[in-house]
Amino acid sequence: MSTYQKTIGIEVHCELKTNTKMFSSAKNGYGDSANCNLTLLDLGYPGTLPLINDYAVTLALRAALALHCEIHREMYFDRKNYFYPDLPKGYQITQAKTPIGINGYVEIEVDGKPKTIRIHDIHIEEDTAKSVHQGNHSYLDFNRAGVPLIEIVTEPDMNSSEEAMLYLEKLRSLLLYADVSDCKIEEGSMRCDVNVSISKDDTLGVRTETKNIGSIRNVGLAIESEALRQEKLLEEGIAIQEETRRYDDASKETVLMRVKEIGNDYRYFPEPDIPKLCLSEERIRKVQEQMPMLPDDRKARYQALGLSDLSSSKLIQNKPLSDYFNLFLEDDIDFVMLSNLLLGDISFYLNRTMKTLMDTTLTKERMLSLLQHLYDQTITTKNVKDLLEEFLETDKDIDTICKEKGIQNISDTTLLSTIIKNIIEQNPESVKDYQQGRDRAIKYLMGQVMKETKGSANPSLARDLLEEELKKQ
Ligand code: ADP
Ligand code: MG
Repeated sequence: MSTYQKTIGIEVHCELKTNTKMFSSAKNGYGDSANCNLTLLDLGYPGTLPLINDYAVTLALRAALALHCEIHREMYFDRKNYFYPDLPKGYQITQAKTPIGINGYVEIEVDGKPKTIRIHDIHIEEDTAKSVHQGNHSYLDFNRAGVPLIEIVTEPDMNSSEEAMLYLEKLRSLLLYADVSDCKIEEGSMRCDVNVSISKDDTLGVRTETKNIGSIRNVGLAIESEALRQEKLLEEGIAIQEETRRYDDASKETVLMRVKEIGNDYRYFPEPDIPKLCLSEERIRKVQEQMPMLPDDRKARYQALGLSDLSSSKLIQNKPLSDYFNLFLEDDIDFVMLSNLLLGDISFYLNRTMKTLMDTTLTKERMLSLLQHLYDQTITTKNVKDLLEEFLETDKDIDTICKEKGIQNISDTTLLSTIIKNIIEQNPESVKDYQQGRDRAIKYLMGQVMKETKGSANPSLARDLLEEELKKQ
């Protein structure tokens, strides 16, 4: 066991889901051909003037509220000055002094116990162009220049790689549900910089920053390997330097990028080309009121409807399924049955065919009819497996599909009775078990009935008939 305690603080950049850029009318589009989503402003031409994208501000405000931040009512933007080829203006427009949100928090659950990760601030800024390196050449794609970003900075509140990963998963889920970003780490719309230090007491050690790690899992690995590297240095009596590193996927180690210059000065000053931005109480209230239902609220609601902890979590991990489930919140239905269908056969079908619910014919009305048939036991869960594909791909109703496919649910009392009598005759041991009050006998015999009828016996009718028959023995 290491005698060092890890301390971790995380900075996350998220691209906002807007149609256009932060300060220009160019399209915000990922995956388009290089350098087609541009205006002169994005190229840093002199004489061009930035104009605030109001919807980006709304999304940033929504994110800040979802992270329980205090909101700055009056903001201005700052220029962060540095030279780099991906930054043609020579400065990035950001919010250094008046971030839209401060003093927020995110709750995570570590080994079943709640832990609060404090958010230092969340601020709006613009993305840089993207450098692409091929052989000896470097290329610049300005499609990304000026894309609206929020940067979310935590306090150094995490103490293990597990906590860091839990935080990132929770943050990602919050931002996805708040509908502010698509948070795709692999496409770069969510990027994580991880600050790590170690120490033996309460004073914080010198930290390093590992930039742009490509997955949440790699964040965990990067923290472990970086903490180990620092520990080895300290044990050899070598002081840690403040430096920027990157994570190398192949060697599973962090690699030095640059040592932080002392007094690194971006010469921040207020951006003179953008007027002060004021948020009215009315606007803040509206954004709060229109906040989509967030993951923790969904979980509480699902559990109140009778879903297990596991089912609730699984639904929330899949936003389209959770959104679909929410269409039924005001209905008088069996919610456990609905969640079982969505997480079971329907998810299985969607995964197998690589479709989403939108690609199927499963309207709310059709789902209600499926639930009603199951509830009335006119079909069994086994029948669902046989009819689902057709039901999800066509507009045919359940009865038609059953008729066409010869799917039956045996509710014929005489037929079932005969089958049951035969089974009882063939299983005298189970009858004895039953007479001695063993529950498993009924379960076993029901299993035999289902096997014999290939799962198409109406279960509650079969059970009634079975018990009736057993009592006669
Ligand atoms: P910078 O301006 O260099 O980005 P900040 O003070 O804004 O530095 O901190 C960036 C991140 O580093 C924050 O998430 C903060 O919590 C974290 N951090 C600061 N000090 C430490 C430390 N000693 N160990 C680990 N993380 C730290
Ligand atoms: Mg920083």
